[in-house]
Amino acid sequence: MSEPEDNHPANPLNSTDPQSSPDLTSTAEDRALGMNRRIARRDFLNGVAYGAAALAAQASLPWGRAAAATNAAPIQSSLLGQSEASNAVMHAIRDGTYTPPKAAPTGEIYDLVVVGAGISGLAAAHEFRRLQPKARILLIDPLADVGGHAQRNTFKVGGRTVIGYGGSQSLQSPSYFSPAVKEMLHSVSIEPKKFEGYYDGDWASRRQLEPGTYFDKAVFGRSATVRRVGKAASWVPQTPLNAKARRDLTELIDAPRDYLKGRSEAEKRALLSKMTYRDYLLKTVGADPQLDTYFADSTREYFGAGTDIVGALDAWANGNPGFDGLGLSGRPDKAMSPSGRLLATDPDKYIYHFPDGNASVARALLRSLIPAAVPGQGMETLPLVNVSAARLDVSGQPVRVRLSSTAVRVRHLGDPGSAKQVQVDYVYQGETRSVVAGRVVLACWHRVIPYLTGELGAAQVGALRDQVKVPLIYTNVVLRNWRAFEKLKLEAITSPGHFWIGADLDFPVSMGGYTFAQKASDPVVLHLRRIPGGQAGQDARTQSNAGRMEMTRLTLADYERQTRRLLAGALSGADFDPARDIAAISNNRWAHGYTYEYMRPNDAYWPAGPLPITAARRGWGRVAIANSDSGAYAYTHSAIDQGVRAVRELLGASEPAVSEFPGPPVGGLKLV
Ligand SMILES: Cc1cc2nc3c(=O)[nH]c(=O)nc-3n(C[C@H](O)[C@H](O)[C@H](O)COP(=O)(O)OP(=O)(O)OC[C@H]3O[C@@H](n4cnc5c(N)ncnc54)[C@H](O)[C@@H]3O)c2cc1C
Repeated sequence: MSEPEDNHPANPLNSTDPQSSPDLTSTAEDRALGMNRRIARRDFLNGVAYGAAALAAQASLPWGRAAAATNAAPIQSSLLGQSEASNAVMHAIRDGTYTPPKAAPTGEIYDLVVVGAGISGLAAAHEFRRLQPKARILLIDPLADVGGHAQRNTFKVGGRTVIGYGGSQSLQSPSYFSPAVKEMLHSVSIEPKKFEGYYDGDWASRRQLEPGTYFDKAVFGRSATVRRVGKAASWVPQTPLNAKARRDLTELIDAPRDYLKGRSEAEKRALLSKMTYRDYLLKTVGADPQLDTYFADSTREYFGAGTDIVGALDAWANGNPGFDGLGLSGRPDKAMSPSGRLLATDPDKYIYHFPDGNASVARALLRSLIPAAVPGQGMETLPLVNVSAARLDVSGQPVRVRLSSTAVRVRHLGDPGSAKQVQVDYVYQGETRSVVAGRVVLACWHRVIPYLTGELGAAQVGALRDQVKVPLIYTNVVLRNWRAFEKLKLEAITSPGHFWIGADLDFPVSMGGYTFAQKASDPVVLHLRRIPGGQAGQDARTQSNAGRMEMTRLTLADYERQTRRLLAGALSGADFDPARDIAAISNNRWAHGYTYEYMRPNDAYWPAGPLPITAARRGWGRVAIANSDSGAYAYTHSAIDQGVRAVRELLGASEPAVSEFPGPPVGGLKLV
């Protein structure tokens, strides 16, 4: 069945949006899964060829069409991660296949040019204007919307607008926010406390919905969807795990022993910090190897790495099971979402979530910089507001944002130690142009910076290259209704060993004019995650690079097939029909996703140092470095802190330093 209102018009940035294409219907399984149905499908990464062709595609992006995507039509405004088109210029420079032509001067002179309009770049611009209210600022970014990782997905289903987050999800742990972060959020009208009213903490419990686990036959020999309610002893027997794995899992969750008996607490901590969680389970606990598969992805979402990389001490802090018998002190209370779904290292509830995630934070910052571009007032208006692209880059305006533009060169006009100005060249539609700045903040990723400038020494270049970002895929599936979840009494599904880590009903947040699904017949967003890696045992950076390669190999059809398979399997027995019940799918692919966070046991220098970021983020002349990379901390508050730090460095502001690594005091791991 196809309903035109469910089918978003082909995204103007993506000329190859397949809608329903014949190659999706090649097998009986594909037809049963509904691969031939007309739904809204989006594909950027595979829509454009690599190398020169991708560059040409980037160059051919018409400004007017990009503007339309950002401005008027909410359906098309959700940018689906980083496209090869947006990365094309830097990739071609990296590969040595492209040298930007000589820049044509625009004649524009700014007090500050910010490279990168993610949250860190926006925060830097905000801080600069706070310290110098009359400053003229330009922000440059290759994407077609502001916000970097913080992007919105919008859908129209059955006459209703349904919103999801395409990237950065929630404001995490306000308890750890520095004064700078608190002040900046307050100044742009974001009051985290208000989420206590907007987030319906009892939404799932009122409906008796609980988390569950889907065991795929291909992985565990038998398929089963098991609701995880109460003691493990009550639900583990329903799993297809073998007898020893069941015993071990029950013990690990319900009554873990002291597996390091006879050692002092200090010795236990030292041992746990030197082994991975995987080794702890398999070697120290002696758990059945099936539990290796069961737990392998349990640390990925928080740390961006699997149990083969994450240290046992971090896993303890994260609430992974198996430690309660050790008698360790000092762990913050287990923080759960009100429904008990999320367990994390942080002390706060996980409720600080706008319907479009931190895209609203980006819009709030943008609104403070260019009020005309983001109409309205107050945090409640943010999730539904559309950015007016026509207002972003207006001549004479004190702050301008230039999208679909890639900075390619940054050099002082004279000796960096004494120069008064910096020239920034950027590529827009295949042409290189230049602007002149009194100061520059590089709020792009660390690994990009060495390609922009020849003014850095080898040691700093090496330190900048140490940041290897974690790739992630966030897929939003719009279901026409969530009756299957109601029937199975589930709110979220973890799927060990499957392509996707799991699928969760979206966060129950209603604010402003936006209302989250109430009745089971309402459409809802289901959120799927994949954090592709390499082979277990490889180091984190190698795995991230392998994950990026996987992203370039897999097609939109591959992702869709895996999506439909997961839902068909996990929701079988609940009258779920993927061919009938899926209204839209958006894949948000973040090849350059989470900032790399240092972790033991792999990063032996952590936390004592010296840390690579100290050398990497050192500013020079009139240039400073921001981005969450320069905090080695993959959070919105880190992105803001680093933007603020960079500006205060540039202006010599004597205000208190921003706090860093404000993580929990567990084993000293998150503290320096
Ligand atoms: C999928 C995902 C989920 C996340 N979830 C959360 C969460 O729930 N909570 C949380 O606090 N954090 C989360 N994060 C972490 C997130 O990275 C940070 O919170 C924050 O948004 C990072 O902002 P940033 O400005 O430092 O980097 P980015 O958002 O990456 O912005 C950098 C910008 O620089 C631009 N750029 C790159 N090269 C150039 C160039 N040559 N010229 C010009 N511009 C360039 C990029 O296009 C990009 O827009 C998540 C990240 C991802 C990927």
